[in-house]
Amino acid sequence: MSEVRFTLPYLPEASIQACDASLISGHLAGDGPFSQRVTSTLDNLLLAEATLLTPSGTHALELAMWLLDLQAGDEVIVPSYTFSSTANAVIQAGGVPVFVDIEHATCNISPAAVEAAITDRTRAVVPIHYAGVSADMDSLLRISEDRGIHIIEDNAHGFGGFHRKRPLGSIGRCSALSFHETKNVQCGEGGALIVNDPVDVDRAQILREKGTNRSQFFRGQVDKYTWVDRGSSWLLAEPLAAVLHGQLTNLEALQQSRKEVWCTYQSELSEWADELGIQQPFVPEYAQPAWHIYFLVFQEPTMRDRFIEHMRAHGIMTVFHYVPLHSSQAGLNFGIARDEFPVTDFVSQGLVRLPLWTMMPTPVVNRVVEAILAFR
Ligand SMILES: *Cc1c(COP(=O)(O)O)cnc(C)c1O
Repeated sequence: MSEVRFTLPYLPEASIQACDASLISGHLAGDGPFSQRVTSTLDNLLLAEATLLTPSGTHALELAMWLLDLQAGDEVIVPSYTFSSTANAVIQAGGVPVFVDIEHATCNISPAAVEAAITDRTRAVVPIHYAGVSADMDSLLRISEDRGIHIIEDNAHGFGGFHRKRPLGSIGRCSALSFHETKNVQCGEGGALIVNDPVDVDRAQILREKGTNRSQFFRGQVDKYTWVDRGSSWLLAEPLAAVLHGQLTNLEALQQSRKEVWCTYQSELSEWADELGIQQPFVPEYAQPAWHIYFLVFQEPTMRDRFIEHMRAHGIMTVFHYVPLHSSQAGLNFGIARDEFPVTDFVSQGLVRLPLWTMMPTPVVNRVVEAILAFR
């Protein structure tokens, strides 16, 4: 029997055709016709003021942080349980990441911990929507709004999910998408900044265009194309935007296939998980998931490790993440951790992710379920 991979890239025919067309068209740099189509699709899906395609989700987070004009010593609150990029972006923009703990049920940033971590230097908070399930945005908005603290959503997991009626990524001042090949919508490496506040649109375009007013020039708003601010080169190459275009034309089928895998795991494993005291994902009433990750949390790290071995013996790859940022080498060097992190430490030692990819065949899903049910 062949090995069951943990994740597989999804390349629909529409992506191949669009990418070919873009390569042949001779327009290879960013912001060509495919970029424009992807941008307007994302504008519509996420109700955005503007969408700016970037070379990665990390770049989109950096761009978001630059928009805040952080001063030395300014603090940005991030969960300890996240990917390094969430915190790196804060450092790149001259701020200090302040780590806080997560909630047990969703593995999302804890509003109570955020509230406790606020100081007069706090400028922003960056929730992620872990596994595609919305963070507790009502509480985060309530805590941040009257204190003038901005919410920047790291929406790498949340594309296609909702908080109540609002698409994830449309709630904060801006948000970052990732189109890495492990994400729901993908082009190898890529991302997007979703701008939700009209005041940020021009500035974001300038920062992304090497500090020039090129976008305004092309729209005829200024008569010279010149260097006006700091900036970097944060455009996505056109052939990759074409790959994205192909993915987005298949968006419904793509999300539906991930949903089916997620729901099969959730229902087929529930009795087994109850018996062994293993935690399954919890979806709060305010959340409609994006079906990005399916995970289990074991009570004991040794049992988790034994599970990963068991699955490997059945030819099935399962993986764990994240090493908490607050206790990582860079986190200790660059960040602030004023609090305790019992939930982050517990989840990080007990969590395992199951294979889940777009168009994962049903027999493969069933094989994974059978192997899991044989674990005692
Ligand atoms: C994938 C991911 C990113 C970064 O995305 P890249 O496109 O790989 O730069 C940021 N934050 C989280 C939570 C992610 O999962």
